[in-house]
Amino acid sequence: MMGFKQAHWDEPLIIERSIEGAVGFSLSSPETPTVNVPVELLRKKRPKLPEVSETDVIRHYVRLSQENYGTDLGIYPLGSCTMKYNPKVLDRIVATPKIQDLHPLQDAGSVQGILQILYELSEWLAEIVGLYRVSLQPAAGAHGEFAGVMIMRAFHKQSGDLEKRDEIIVPDSAHGTNPASAAMAGFKVVEVPSNQDGCVDIEALRGSLSHRTAGLMLTNPNTLGIFEADILEIARLVHEAGGLLYYDGANLNAMLGKAKPGRMGFDIVHINIHKTFGTPHGGGGPGSGPIAVSKKLEEFLPVPTIERDGDKYYLDSERPHSIGKIHGFWGNSSVLLRAYAYILMMGRDGLEEVAELSVLNANYLAKKLGQVRGLELPFPHKVRKHEFVLSAARMAAETGVTAAHLSKRLLDFGIHAPTIYFPLIIEEALMIEPTETVSKQELDEFTLAFSKAGAEAYTNPGVVRDSPRSTAVTRIDEARASHPKTMQLTWKERPQAV
Ligand SMILES: *Cc1c(COP(=O)(O)O)cnc(C)c1O
Repeated sequence: MMGFKQAHWDEPLIIERSIEGAVGFSLSSPETPTVNVPVELLRKKRPKLPEVSETDVIRHYVRLSQENYGTDLGIYPLGSCTMKYNPKVLDRIVATPKIQDLHPLQDAGSVQGILQILYELSEWLAEIVGLYRVSLQPAAGAHGEFAGVMIMRAFHKQSGDLEKRDEIIVPDSAHGTNPASAAMAGFKVVEVPSNQDGCVDIEALRGSLSHRTAGLMLTNPNTLGIFEADILEIARLVHEAGGLLYYDGANLNAMLGKAKPGRMGFDIVHINIHKTFGTPHGGGGPGSGPIAVSKKLEEFLPVPTIERDGDKYYLDSERPHSIGKIHGFWGNSSVLLRAYAYILMMGRDGLEEVAELSVLNANYLAKKLGQVRGLELPFPHKVRKHEFVLSAARMAAETGVTAAHLSKRLLDFGIHAPTIYFPLIIEEALMIEPTETVSKQELDEFTLAFSKAGAEAYTNPGVVRDSPRSTAVTRIDEARASHPKTMQLTWKERPQAV
């Protein structure tokens, strides 16, 4: 592992490999049907597509893949947004023609199978989170948040309360999408601080609650991986003030089969399907962020809903109190189908085991990494759930090696960096989530790499600050890489090597 060196190819762009007339297949095609395309729809100009042979195209993409890192290569410890278990069989299932050939505009009578699958999945998700009804439409967690906050709006509007209830409370440890969703839905965001246990400060919460409170958004366990043990009291206070409770389900892995947000008092929950139920993510999706709501909020769910009448399934768009449509068709069905197959495959006991192993792995790793020189585990007396956050503040002060430097040094050992500088309440934060699928051996190797990089910070800080060196792309200028003026996303102007 420590001997890692990533492949590096001077590979041109696929368009630069193009040779006019080259083709990627050699099938004789006497049976290719001719189609009469109306003249006005015919292309005037040939599209400028790369023309390459089969061998060229395969070599090109395999070379690029060798310059890359993914879950099939090693651990992906990105706290909060990590890649959990993505069984390959799920990709097989969604690739079957029975699924691929479906069209969302087909008459409901001809797509009963997928409607049944989606209907059953929503029932299972409702059961898992302990709420009444689910909409599978939102395309991601953040989209679920937006839909959920719009439901809060609709609820308060119906009660004639919306004018005065214009505030949503969010803890200072929250994911950035929470305040963003609240603001997008037109609410003012009120931040509550965390206490010395890393949890919501109840006194501060009491002080923030008023007749202006529309609701509270919370994730439990929170982004520090700590369970908000006062959740029943928090729920009571928010409800007493007339607000609703929103659960950010990104951390649901730790709760599966163990505890239900609905029982904790939450009224609305989103579930990051791509974080918990078998879809790989990163690179922008597609994902899925279904929302679950309590009975009193059901009427506000987005349209269409999938309904059942005996053994017939149909779509219902005639729901007068609905917040409306938030996604094309019925949601990202292929992601949802993976979740359905995953839940079937794991069963109730399997899901519970996910929670147990993810928590065990996180606590094992937290104890080990907390001992690395220069690192500290804040709130050390608290048991973690599926993830934890370390601080490299001491290391930074003593050696000038920051959380960012240390993470980049890990790349030299063939390990993906953890999430850094989030949550904002921890200085020099390193947020780590090992997940339920890594072995003890891999956790120990991870610890070894961390210890080595940590020791180097004290003996040879220059090397750490200058890393990575063993990767295909070495140290990049982050400011330049993300500046709109210098960022180049098309092949037309090839970016200068950095
Ligand atoms: C990932 C994440 C989100 C946003 O979910 P997306 O599916 O990425 O839109 C919200 N909250 C937390 C805590 C997260 O980790």
